[in-house]
Amino acid sequence: MSTDTSSEVRGQIVNMVRDFVRREVQPIADRYDNEDIYPHELVEPMREMGLFGITIPEQYGGMGLDYTTFAMIFEELSKGWMSVSGIIGTHHVLSHVVANGGTEEQKQRFLPRMASGEIRGGLGLTEPDAGSDVQGIRTTAVKDGEEYVLNGSKMFITNAENGTAFAVLAKTDSAAEPAYRGISCFVVEKPSTGFSVGRHLDKLGYRGIESCELVFENCRVGSDNLVGEVEGQGFRQVMSALETGRINVAARAVGVAEAALDAAVRYAQQRKTFGVPIAEHQAIQLMLADMATKVQAARLLTYDAAAKKDAGQERIDLEAGMAKLYASEVCQQVALDAMRIHGGYGFIKDYPVERYYRDAPLMIIGEGTNEIQKLVIARRLLQKYKI
Ligand SMILES: Cc1cc2nc3c(=O)[nH]c(=O)nc-3n(C[C@H](O)[C@H](O)[C@H](O)COP(=O)(O)OP(=O)(O)OC[C@H]3O[C@@H](n4cnc5c(N)ncnc54)[C@H](O)[C@@H]3O)c2cc1C
Repeated sequence: MSTDTSSEVRGQIVNMVRDFVRREVQPIADRYDNEDIYPHELVEPMREMGLFGITIPEQYGGMGLDYTTFAMIFEELSKGWMSVSGIIGTHHVLSHVVANGGTEEQKQRFLPRMASGEIRGGLGLTEPDAGSDVQGIRTTAVKDGEEYVLNGSKMFITNAENGTAFAVLAKTDSAAEPAYRGISCFVVEKPSTGFSVGRHLDKLGYRGIESCELVFENCRVGSDNLVGEVEGQGFRQVMSALETGRINVAARAVGVAEAALDAAVRYAQQRKTFGVPIAEHQAIQLMLADMATKVQAARLLTYDAAAKKDAGQERIDLEAGMAKLYASEVCQQVALDAMRIHGGYGFIKDYPVERYYRDAPLMIIGEGTNEIQKLVIARRLLQKYKI
């Protein structure tokens, strides 16, 4: 759906986001994260910058940016505070599902309001008993006249409280074989009868932004909210959106890793031991060299996956999976190394490296765990090099 963005436009947008992060995100990040405060005041400037519609086609009011620019935006936001990228992360997944799987009527109805940020979206896929095993979801949607009746619950849902519409996966045919053929995707808007937000989860990292349960108790949605208005397409629609979601997660990991590297390089030149800055000790230099090399490799893998998507390659699950896997593991390693370089100060909340270390694991788990990424990568390799 994306078009190529000129390097001039890309540069302007990335600079605008970088400036926003420096002026408005960095000053509040540590306190808001510690106190788990939602950054409401950042939403309006993000709307004004058009960040709710970065990949929504221009004909529906979005910016229609390519995925390389998309990756760079997530990287910049995450350098400041990874939680802020979550405000538009699964919003993008919802808009991708509608833009690529919706009917023309659904595109006209939802996309302009999503692009402006009037609708703020989320994704309801994971359930208390099914995450990696998406086909094992239990939420059902039963047709009743011109409506569907949804029953079930979703777990860990980002933007649950502040979002206003969700791409919700439910089984319209629980007996289907294979199970994915019986899964459909609905846009469930607030308020809807029988739809409520459950527990607000207390998290290690990714704080400030909410993750909650969603509860559907005889929740009624119009049959025109079934994406594409054909049953059984939901699994494919959401999996296709999650390919680009993995570019987003990889880019977030690059951003957090870069922030950790930057902090470590600065600190190493300020902190002295045995009469010299620690940056002059070879042990620290070796660590910095490894960190910088890994961050650059992670960035290039991420941009490569985005470029393949921009070039129109139909499936990029191999490239996006590799980028997400590698960048998230690097992010965790680099955040830990930055903490080592900070010594005891790295372990206390006066310095942001402690936050980077707490945020990094989410990228390993979210948007498909790294174990699942490896299975996807291996499957694609075996197809590609079949003998
Ligand atoms: C902060 C946060 C925000 C989130 N936001 C959202 C959201 O907005 N929307 C949403 O739908 N979900 C969201 N999630 C859910 C997230 O995508 C899932 O947690 C993730 O996909 C893993 O699913 P699970 O937690 O059920 O783990 P499980 O699937 O139970 O996996 C447990 C462990 O088993 C491993 N495993 C599972 N199957 C296999 C296998 N076949 N082979 C090898 N290993 C395997 C996994 O890798 C993992 O290590 C969020 C999660 C968190 C923590």
